[in-house]
Amino acid sequence: MQKHPELPQAFADLGVSVPILKALRKIGYETPSDIQREMIPVALSGRDILGQARTGTGKTASFGIPALQRIDPNKRLQALCLAPTRELAVQVTGEIRRIAEFTGVHCVAVYGGQKIQTQVHQLGKKPHFVIGTPGRVMDMIGRRHLDIHELDYVILDEVDRMLDIGFRDDIRKILGYIRSEHQTIFVSATFDDEIRRLAKQFTREPVEINVSRDQITVDQVQQFFVTAEQRDKFRLLKLLLEQDEPEAAIVFTNTKHAARKLAGQLHKVGIEAMEIHGDLMQRKRDKAMERFRKHRVRVLVATDLAARGIDVQNVTHIINYDLPVDIQVYVHRIGRTARMGAKGKAVSFVTREEGVLLTDIEKMINREIVECSYEGYTPSPPPERPKLVALTPGEALASRLVTSSGAEEDDAPRRTLLRRYKPARRRR
Ligand code: AMP
Repeated sequence: MQKHPELPQAFADLGVSVPILKALRKIGYETPSDIQREMIPVALSGRDILGQARTGTGKTASFGIPALQRIDPNKRLQALCLAPTRELAVQVTGEIRRIAEFTGVHCVAVYGGQKIQTQVHQLGKKPHFVIGTPGRVMDMIGRRHLDIHELDYVILDEVDRMLDIGFRDDIRKILGYIRSEHQTIFVSATFDDEIRRLAKQFTREPVEINVSRDQITVDQVQQFFVTAEQRDKFRLLKLLLEQDEPEAAIVFTNTKHAARKLAGQLHKVGIEAMEIHGDLMQRKRDKAMERFRKHRVRVLVATDLAARGIDVQNVTHIINYDLPVDIQVYVHRIGRTARMGAKGKAVSFVTREEGVLLTDIEKMINREIVECSYEGYTPSPPPERPKLVALTPGEALASRLVTSSGAEEDDAPRRTLLRRYKPARRRR
């Protein structure tokens, strides 16, 4: 390809076209991320792909760039991207629109929680690329505002989350509507049997790409815990916010009720915080995200589902006000910080009964989570923990290699890792 010295050459080397390179220069992307380096050339070749990558890896551009490049702006609707949540649909659309700036490709987002008429109106403007949540996409198809019989590119983003939320039937129906030959890309943080079955039915000889980034994230985030009984957590959070002065902190609770209550408590003591959870109207969720993204408010209280896929630059702190019960969720949460190589800090509030859970998390990430303290806070008695049998340096290296190869989602390597830790025998 012809050299354009001022354009990002590393993307040009992957076969990215000049209009898109111009946009990338404007956005400030100079070097492709791992998933982009692997996915863009394969996607440009037209092959189906199963891409294993989490949010924060640059996955949106990895499927967005090739789709935009292959769309003909003189033709009808050609591409559809399904995403699990409204937030992710909005975020993907924003990223794709930025990249599309000089291509003439018109993108529209359709998702629940916003007036359907507004989106109907936008669909009437003949987009080339529609990004949406499965429920709203089905709705639009049902109302005949969206015709997807003839598509060239179909992307399923965060397939694992879409299945978790219960979109399996909608996804099958949507994919079943498409009559034309098309390229299909599945992107997911994990690929379990169910996703593979779905992929087998709806893709042709897909190329598998795995650039899972969890271990990298885990390595870049400083991780701490503080023992705190439920009744002490709020006081601890207040001290943490005063002493750490985070630029942008996401505080995770396990329930919508807890998120609402905590946001209220923070307001009462004069700490400005936004909340996002499933009970909140979409307009309010959008507003909260917007203010947090623009760093107008430093604290966002969130539940896992609402926070799924949210991408905010420079999140400095992740606070697990409640430790997640599912240990995979811990990694998803801390993946909100340390984006694209930045550093972050995660602090987990752990009750005395949660010692085993904390140890399980450490086993999974193969790292010790260090106890920390805040001035003016006397920690509760430490959690009861099973004793870990120390790894020899050789074993530690071997297990790190297992996890950092990106295979951490496989059961087999994880079992190998877990066997290295033997719980101490209970004393009578
Ligand atoms: P994603 O995994 O798509 O949610 O992207 C994570 C973040 O990385 C987003 O804020 C993107 O704008 C940003 N990003 C994606 N690709 C690049 C790149 N090549 N260089 C710098 N930032 C990027």
